[in-house]
Amino acid sequence: MRRRPDRSHALPAPAVALAAFTMIVSAVVLLSPIASTRFGWYFDDLGALAVSAGAAVGAIWRSRRSSNRALRRSWILIAIGCSSWAIGEALWCWFELGQGKDPFPSVADIGYLGFPLAAGAALLCYPASQGFPRSGQRMLDSLVAVGSLGLISWETVLRAVSGSPADSAFAFTISLTYPLTDLVVLMLVVLTLARAPGSKLALALIAAGCASLAVSDSLFAYLTATTGYTGGAVDLGWIAAFVLLGLASVAPDRSPSTGPLTEADKIRESQASLLNYLPVIAAVGVTLALAAAGHAPTVLQLGVAASIISVMLLRQYLASRRNAELATALARREAQLRHQAFHDGLTGLANRGLFQDRLAHALELHRRDLRPVSVLFFDLDDFKLVNDSLGHRAGDELLGRVAERITGAVRTGDTAARLGGDEFAVLIEDSGDPVALASRIVDALRAPFVLDGTSVEVRASIGVFELAADDVPTTADQLLINADTAMYAAKRSGKDRIVIYRNGMSLAELEDGELARALRAAIEARELNLAYQPIVDLATGKANAVEALTRWVHLGENVPPAVFIPMAERCGVMDELTAYVLGQACEQLSEWGGEVGHQHLSIAVNVPPAQITSPGFVTLVTDLVRRHELAAGQLVIEITESGAFEEPEAARTAIAEMRRHGVAISLDDFGVGQSSLAQLHSVELDSIKIDKSFIDTLDSNPRQAQFLRALLRLSYDIDVKVIVEGIERPEQLTQLLELGHPLAQGFLFARPMTPAECLPLLTGDAKLFGAAPAGALPRQGTGVSAARG
Ligand code: C2E
Ligand code: MG
Ligand code: MG
Repeated sequence: MRRRPDRSHALPAPAVALAAFTMIVSAVVLLSPIASTRFGWYFDDLGALAVSAGAAVGAIWRSRRSSNRALRRSWILIAIGCSSWAIGEALWCWFELGQGKDPFPSVADIGYLGFPLAAGAALLCYPASQGFPRSGQRMLDSLVAVGSLGLISWETVLRAVSGSPADSAFAFTISLTYPLTDLVVLMLVVLTLARAPGSKLALALIAAGCASLAVSDSLFAYLTATTGYTGGAVDLGWIAAFVLLGLASVAPDRSPSTGPLTEADKIRESQASLLNYLPVIAAVGVTLALAAAGHAPTVLQLGVAASIISVMLLRQYLASRRNAELATALARREAQLRHQAFHDGLTGLANRGLFQDRLAHALELHRRDLRPVSVLFFDLDDFKLVNDSLGHRAGDELLGRVAERITGAVRTGDTAARLGGDEFAVLIEDSGDPVALASRIVDALRAPFVLDGTSVEVRASIGVFELAADDVPTTADQLLINADTAMYAAKRSGKDRIVIYRNGMSLAELEDGELARALRAAIEARELNLAYQPIVDLATGKANAVEALTRWVHLGENVPPAVFIPMAERCGVMDELTAYVLGQACEQLSEWGGEVGHQHLSIAVNVPPAQITSPGFVTLVTDLVRRHELAAGQLVIEITESGAFEEPEAARTAIAEMRRHGVAISLDDFGVGQSSLAQLHSVELDSIKIDKSFIDTLDSNPRQAQFLRALLRLSYDIDVKVIVEGIERPEQLTQLLELGHPLAQGFLFARPMTPAECLPLLTGDAKLFGAAPAGALPRQGTGVSAARG
């Protein structure tokens, strides 16, 4: 789309055309020999009368149109000035054209002199011209200009007029009044322009009109006092003056700005333009020209010149000092702007832009040097409540104070950012522990905040994403999405917690929805049940161990563990679930202990590896052992998903501690995870549970039998018991018995069942299958021995 040129600040074209036409015709007539013809006189006098009367009409029209009072008054004064001058001119026409006389002084001069007086008042009234110039430099510039003009006026006009013989005191006074009032008008013009930074077109035209009239008046006074006035160029100046005033009256103009100066105004002000020096140059030029012509300057002239120079020097000094101040202010402002561009205004933390920039850089270093990168992504739990109950001001204050605590918790070099609202993020660009940092932040926020006398508790849900050295590089966006997903999981699992992102978390977490909420509620309401599946000693056919398996009936439907266990992990309620199952299982064990009448019954509880190292887990387990007075090996922790421990060292320590308290450790689903053998080697275990997938074709696949044999031999050698799970067919049992006498679990013997159903299988001499034949390998007991070290 083509943009139309903005003409709202330009003069109307017909007015410009009329003004140009008037000036051209006047110049042609007045500057040529025509001026001295009769036509020339008529043209000169009547033309000036018409133009001044036209300017008066224009000024009246302009004054009525203006909404600004000061501007209106100013235009009325201009109208009075123009009218006064037009009346003077009319009288002059009467003298010159009607009577054929050119008297000086005459009553016409009163009319003429009315103009500078009214114009001066108009300039003083002009809105921009109230008070002093807006800065010291402008004031000094005006002084220099006024001094220079005074000097020129004195040297050229005033001295000549004051020194010329006059017919009468009145004639002398009038002839001196012209240059003096003109000098005042010129000075007011200079001051008015100086007081209106970025002055508007109308004011500039008024100033130019007044200046033109003042110059012509001064020339008239000078010529009258010296060689004699003959019209011509002097009269052209008067016509030009009213043409300019007429144009000013039609110039579009808004109220001049009286607001505070902008930086740009200040800089423009401090720069001395050539315009400032024009009057000085003119004054020096005139003085030198006169000196060359033999008029040596008087002491007064030299004094004025010296004053002008001193003022100029002072002005330059002030300008350079101000420039230095401005440069410092600008540098400060630039630094401030740079800071603002990259930091959050409310909290002073890095903003999203800076955070993303640093994150992108950190990811490049990860790609190049395998440098680890971690991100914490968090927001404040129920922050909206603070805003709603205490107001947004308190909310903002809280965010600021939270940011202070976050800053106190992060290490130097970590980037803490506010991404918007109550959303924060921290970038760790080295191998610093993000979970430890997240815990520090959680701790830092624990102490209540006092806002307007109200104590406010703040909790945060933190999502952690870690990109280890050997992880596949990812994009900044994906990384943030993952951290956000982890945070979302933290929120969904009850808030006020830290959740580490795990692969596949995103979609499932989003899909869990209502079911996850129901699971959380079921755990809280202790609505989950435990089923117990016996573990059989193949040598005796008896079961004196069980595995506790959680059952959840939701809306009358059984939800399989394969669904709700991973979901519990995703939404972060695994801690609660495990604690509940452990408690229930131990209670059941105590109960059975009384009924079964021996202390060798053991119970295995499934625990995901991540939980082994979670804070408080070991204490929870050892407390249970103490509270229920369990014998060594009675409680078995079955570590599920036999994948690697995320923190192997911490896991080893936790396992050793639990074993010291008589808790046996078993590795579930052995052979499924890639690092099963490595675990066997690195962690002290009491038993392993061979996964069902290794038994499935035991009766038909000789390689599977060989593998199992080797595994049994190895485990016996390193004193680790073996439980084989998923025995469904008698053929599998036969095979197992041929291989030795491992412990076994499977539907063939018993399905997971209620405690009441299970109890008869655990008592007395109940056998779950016929007596076992002697095997090739030594038999082992079901009571898993613990606390070896
Ligand atoms: P798991 O620990 O390996 O438990 C054995 C699973 O195999 C149980 O499934 C059991 O019912 C099933 N099973 C036992 N014998 C046979 C058999 O002969 N044939 C077949 N086909 N299956 C058999 P369940 O109860 O569905 O549990 C599945 C998994 O869910 C468990 O595998 C365990 O990893 C997890 N799980 C169950 N309860 C809990 C719990 O309280 N906490 C944790 N963390 N995980 C649990
Ligand atoms: Mg298990
Ligand atoms: Mg298993």
